[in-house]
Amino acid sequence: MNKSAFYALSYGVYVCTSWDEGRPVGCIANSAMQITSSPATIAVSLNHDNYTNACVRATGRFAIAVLGEHADPKLIGKFGFSSSKDTDKFEGTPYAVRGKMPVIDGCVSWFSCKVVDTMETGTHTVFLGEVLDCDVLLSDTPMTYAYYHKVLKGKTAANAPTYQEEKGSGKYVCRICKYEYDGKVPFEELPDDWTCPICGAPKSQFEKK
Ligand code: FE
Repeated sequence: MNKSAFYALSYGVYVCTSWDEGRPVGCIANSAMQITSSPATIAVSLNHDNYTNACVRATGRFAIAVLGEHADPKLIGKFGFSSSKDTDKFEGTPYAVRGKMPVIDGCVSWFSCKVVDTMETGTHTVFLGEVLDCDVLLSDTPMTYAYYHKVLKGKTAANAPTYQEEKGSGKYVCRICKYEYDGKVPFEELPDDWTCPICGAPKSQFEKK
């Protein structure tokens, strides 16, 4: 089986949010899609290990914010590579309650959904959500997962459905978000206060692969 075939599928970069007893929680999702237009229904796939999965299950509600190409990459680092269980991802993240759900500012569009069905797989839950409200916030090209990889040099979190283990490259890789440094300045010569452009981790969190 040639798993490269999966790279030909298109994905977006979304922030899926919910509530944890009044506290906003969220994570990055790349598998979200429209299922039907009437009633307006979308589906999102979340790993069982994502704290947000449990919150969506408990509340029966989730929101999807579509990130654009000009979104701050650190947003992906924050929501994709830490857990809402022990991190307040919304601290310092501008957001507003839209359609009764926490929605990060600066997204292209958002959907507020009510869970109408779920499907379990070995690692992920697919939530089917009826769209109760949605809107467009910003004129920007929606970010595809390919853009995130090719242009932002971002990597895939191990608990994402699109994750595939990668072999050693001799490059310096962020331990937190797996960002692979490929700048013109040799990694060793970067200033000590240099930080990961995706997740903000210090230089010391990079290791040679
Ligand atoms: Fe990083």
